[in-house]
Amino acid sequence: MNVDIIITNAFVLTMEGKGVGMMEDGAVAIKDNLIEAVGRSEDIKQSYSAAEEIDATGKLVMPGLIDAHIHTGLAIVRGVSQDINNWMQEGNWPFMKHVSADHHQKGSMMNIIEGVKVGTTTFCDYDSHMNDIVPNYAKIGARARVAELINEIPADIGDIPVGELYPFHAEIGDRKLQNNIRLLEQWHGAENGRITCMLGPHGPDMMSRELLKEVQALAEKYDTNVHMHVAQGDREIEQMVKRYGKRSIPFLDEIGYLNERLLAVHLTEATKEETELVAKRGAAMINCSGSIGIIDGIVPPLHEFIEAGGSAALGSDQAPGNNCNNMFNEMKFAAILNKVKHTDPAMFPAHLALRLVTIDAAEAVGLGEEVGSLKAGKKADLLIVDLAEPSLSPVITSPIRNIVPNLVYSAKGSEVEAVMVDGQFIMRERRLQTVDETNELQAAQAAAREISQSAECTIHPESVLLKRMEAGEL
Ligand SMILES: [Zn+2]
Repeated sequence: MNVDIIITNAFVLTMEGKGVGMMEDGAVAIKDNLIEAVGRSEDIKQSYSAAEEIDATGKLVMPGLIDAHIHTGLAIVRGVSQDINNWMQEGNWPFMKHVSADHHQKGSMMNIIEGVKVGTTTFCDYDSHMNDIVPNYAKIGARARVAELINEIPADIGDIPVGELYPFHAEIGDRKLQNNIRLLEQWHGAENGRITCMLGPHGPDMMSRELLKEVQALAEKYDTNVHMHVAQGDREIEQMVKRYGKRSIPFLDEIGYLNERLLAVHLTEATKEETELVAKRGAAMINCSGSIGIIDGIVPPLHEFIEAGGSAALGSDQAPGNNCNNMFNEMKFAAILNKVKHTDPAMFPAHLALRLVTIDAAEAVGLGEEVGSLKAGKKADLLIVDLAEPSLSPVITSPIRNIVPNLVYSAKGSEVEAVMVDGQFIMRERRLQTVDETNELQAAQAAAREISQSAECTIHPESVLLKRMEAGEL
């Protein structure tokens, strides 16, 4: 049978079955945008003839990584708000005030490039200018599952004193909801199905109960997920208790929000009982170790959620919080932080971390039929990783195989040499194939310059960060 590409003589991590589905001397056959077959090199070579055969001796072929929660547009202010207590108001806000839709779009492209270069093929992107950002995915060729942020709060929310109840404005909520609907109408299923859309309520504290219900009805109508920050911080819990006399999770349960459609992002402040309730109701948890570690100094209850039978995935969140959007980092963070939290080196093994960015992530975000593992009939989203890089050397296969622990605890992402999405190489020999990386990064740099010039006037003269600048610490 004729196919387009066969990749042979590789270690193949299929991520099928309960473990990682490792195959030594494996091969993958690709036809159009689909995986035609996965098997032993000898068998694949016998059964298929291809226009192109790639000899992947000494390399690993694995599914592309899924970043289940990212705000790519915010990367335009990466790194301006670290190591402080009031991350949002003191750190981010003086800059975010000046970020336009155009800035978001440019920051997003820079951030998507960063992700693709370290093996991310699917981005669950959640941003307030998604209609402007989503063409980036069409252009670069990555897979995306996107949502517009919906809330009912005014743009100057950062100026509202901590502890005061957020004002809700129905017209703001309606405008943002319409943006999400426009996104769904124009992009859900676009680019050969590569781009799909979700509903994106910002958080249970940032909109009325009525609007939350409206969003849920739309998720039913479009048969898609609701992607939402849940119990993301003490500020949210305080707002909920003040407004409804209830914490976020009991409130959401009461209004019927905890179900299979919900992707509950963070659960930072969830109690054990609340965590178990979210799992029991069938909602998925998206865990962002790097971001929540840096912003809040907390390890979210991911282990507890998985123990309760919940479906989970990892996300890198926003660059001004996490600094980097690299799923290799997130795997390592999730594993190590949970080992430390529970003082148990045997818990959270490498293969679990790997599943949380591949097959388990795909299932959690509603793409389990399409991506997340290498299997005939699935979309051809895969990586070729060079095992001869120093960080992955030496390769040992017997009596113990070391590839999976090294991928999780040692790889930086720069070992990824090729990235295929939907049957097309969007990176090859570490060079992006669909966009001019230099041009895109220069455009983002120019946008960041504009924002930082404006932030000169809005940064508080008593800012801790400004003091660090003066002290020569930044
Ligand atoms: Zn987030």
